[in-house]
Amino acid sequence: MNVVDLRSDTVTRPTPAMRAAMLDAEVGDDVYGEDPTVNALQRRLADELGFEDALFVPSGTQSNLLALMSHCERGDEYLVGMDAHTYKFEGGGAAVLGSIQPQPIVQDADGTLPLDRLAAAIKPVDPHFARSRLLALENTWHGRVLPQDYLRNAHDFARQRGLALHLDGARIYNAAVADGVSARAIAQHFDSVSVCLSKGLGAPVGSVLVGSAPLIERARRWRKVTGGGWRQAGMLAAACLHALDHHVARLADDHRRAAWLADRLHDIPGVNLLGQHTNMVFVDVPVERLQALDAHLRDAGIRISIGYLPTLRLVTHLDIDDSGIERVAEAFRAFFARG
Ligand SMILES: *Cc1c(COP(=O)(O)O)cnc(C)c1O
Repeated sequence: MNVVDLRSDTVTRPTPAMRAAMLDAEVGDDVYGEDPTVNALQRRLADELGFEDALFVPSGTQSNLLALMSHCERGDEYLVGMDAHTYKFEGGGAAVLGSIQPQPIVQDADGTLPLDRLAAAIKPVDPHFARSRLLALENTWHGRVLPQDYLRNAHDFARQRGLALHLDGARIYNAAVADGVSARAIAQHFDSVSVCLSKGLGAPVGSVLVGSAPLIERARRWRKVTGGGWRQAGMLAAACLHALDHHVARLADDHRRAAWLADRLHDIPGVNLLGQHTNMVFVDVPVERLQALDAHLRDAGIRISIGYLPTLRLVTHLDIDDSGIERVAEAFRAFFARG
């Protein structure tokens, strides 16, 4: 029985066609800038998203870190959502490694950082304060697509206040597909964007940072400093190119399946559906039943992550088909039918 793994869209395995593309990849030493497949991936994403240059890195965490360190200097600060990945889930890297102070901002429920709250947090130019330098947004955020008019307003605000604007676009293609716009239409509001190819797009490894040529030059230096300079990375870049060619439009299938799963769970007494956004479904279940639910689902070949909260995040992806959703809905129904 193949496992239906709802923990994250990072669990996907390369398809046979992707593995074939990896085997065939032309490679060279990327620290010398000589890997043709890495160069092709960087060119492709820079062009597609409307930027001068791009840098291929192992992870989204490193991509965001390099962006923050390239925009900001020691003693600068970046404004960022209280629940943003860059602030909360990246080990505090900007502060630890960049001497960059985060200024967390309480987000609204849709993931936006209200402009008046941002304005109130920007520091005066004075030796007492860190220098407010950058605003970092995330799209999608917990599956939510930030509204286009918010992005436009945030862009205008950042320009007026002299802030650079970075997007943690780990799932920018989910946002683009859900909104029926190009990824470039989202990226145009930003000075840099980090994209993960290893999530719903299905590559085994890899993120790309796009930005201006000088920004990417600084990021390339920080990538080397943080130990991220890699050599024949073209085999991984080939997987990413394959993902961009074949796995973008199909994200709509993941969104459809998440909506379908939400619909099925909605009717089950004991399951409180909190919402569904792009490829994520959020439900509350009674906290005292979490362990038993987890055990029941494991027996049915289904993986979920249970934290300390009663809220479950169920994520659809490339390796979950309609029959998988059916199995998950049925396993939840059977568990809660036991009372
Ligand atoms: C996964 C993720 C990252 C980091 O990616 P890794 O490759 O796991 O380091 C950054 N931002 C968001 C929003 C993510 O979901």
